[in-house]
Amino acid sequence: MNMYETVIGLETHVQLKTKSKIFCACSTQFGSEPNVNTCPVCLGLPGSLPVMNKEALALAMKVGLALNAQIASRIKFDRKNYFYPDLPKAYQISQYDMPVSSKGELVIEVKSPSGSDVIKKRIGITRAHLEEDAGKLLHEGVKDGSWVDYNRGGVPLLEIVSEPDLRLPEEAYEYLHTLKSILIYLDVSDCNMEEGSLRCDANVSIRKNGDAKLGTKVEIKNLNSFKAVQKALQYEIKRQTELVERGERIRQETRLWDEGKGQTFSMRSKEEAHDYRYFPEPDLVPFTVSREQVETVRKALPELPQARIERFRKTFELSEYDAYALVSDKPLADYFEACVAKGVHPKLVSNWLQTELIGALNERKIDFTKNPVSASDLAALVRLIENGTISGKIAKDVLPLMIDEKKSADMIVKEKNLVQVTDEKLIEKVCDQVIAANPKVVEQYRSGKTQSIGFLVGQVMKEMQGKASPKLANEILARKLG
Ligand SMILES: [Zn+2]
Repeated sequence: MNMYETVIGLETHVQLKTKSKIFCACSTQFGSEPNVNTCPVCLGLPGSLPVMNKEALALAMKVGLALNAQIASRIKFDRKNYFYPDLPKAYQISQYDMPVSSKGELVIEVKSPSGSDVIKKRIGITRAHLEEDAGKLLHEGVKDGSWVDYNRGGVPLLEIVSEPDLRLPEEAYEYLHTLKSILIYLDVSDCNMEEGSLRCDANVSIRKNGDAKLGTKVEIKNLNSFKAVQKALQYEIKRQTELVERGERIRQETRLWDEGKGQTFSMRSKEEAHDYRYFPEPDLVPFTVSREQVETVRKALPELPQARIERFRKTFELSEYDAYALVSDKPLADYFEACVAKGVHPKLVSNWLQTELIGALNERKIDFTKNPVSASDLAALVRLIENGTISGKIAKDVLPLMIDEKKSADMIVKEKNLVQVTDEKLIEKVCDQVIAANPKVVEQYRSGKTQSIGFLVGQVMKEMQGKASPKLANEILARKLG
């Protein structure tokens, strides 16, 4: 029995998908030549003045509403002061005491305490506020000192702060997964972690079971993937537990995750931490957001993952598991719907998509976004199975050819003469041969071991190069064996 409870809170920085930066007209394009996307405003030159990008606010409001949060009626920006070369003004425009949205929630699916069920858990969202990103320092390949690229400076960020409601590293992983899915559905960010458009810091502490007071928290930075978040938390929980058990104190500090070593190490302690001296941004006048504005954004919200899962379950009669697996990957869910729109059976499409197609693509290391099989091509394959033209077994051979040769299912079936044999006389003949050749199995079947018919059906299929209708073969064999 574990004596300690873990308390985790996450801070997620999401780069909003606007064409221009948050306070100037510079492009937000990733991967441009260094310092090309800059101007006097985002370089912090004297006399330049920021102008609020309304699109960034609209996207921030969308996220707030999707997280069931309250949208502030008054928007105010503040200066967060710190001195670092990635910040040309020596302050970052952020929001201190009046964030765009607050008091929201995110519902995640977690294992029940017994571990046997999946239950829904509500994670509170403290706030989500707008701010500008900083530039980027480049140390690699630079001999003397470092270089700085201000292209990213001024790109709009939304910082989403959770309540310390998470209890396990797996829950933190699930939270990020669910949040990302919502952001993708809202189309507010591309959530590309490699390009830094989704970044996460984790706060973690432990306390004795039953304690009401929170333990000393440690902040972990430099987390480059959801898996890294989970692993860093696992490491940190173990480290803190060992310290406490040795009777030592946990220091409040910021630690960095080293992916290679699989460890966190101290970056700075709270004593050296910055005092940001927030104060209101005098160059941006606070402004009011009307209820009508909020309602306009609310009405334009797209269908969100949870609603889509429900619809998939009701309309297509999918299991919770299948609906969840499809919906949590938007391109996959869109593809599934495009297949079903061709009039084939949803359950069959779901199986062929999630097991066979994804499996074949993974084997070939092809990302789903580069999937050469169109939705109508997969639907056509499923239709051939549905109407009995080919067996499911044959279809498993056809699908890889569709990927490798970029041909339609119909074409492959015709070329390779794979049409299913439904000629009863022919199948009967092969059944007789198989029965004669396997007296032992026949005896087992007759003595009550009825599942051994599967072996005989397999033999018939083998004899007929998989082209026999397995259903017919089964029926005929059962009849003949009495
Ligand atoms: Zn600019």
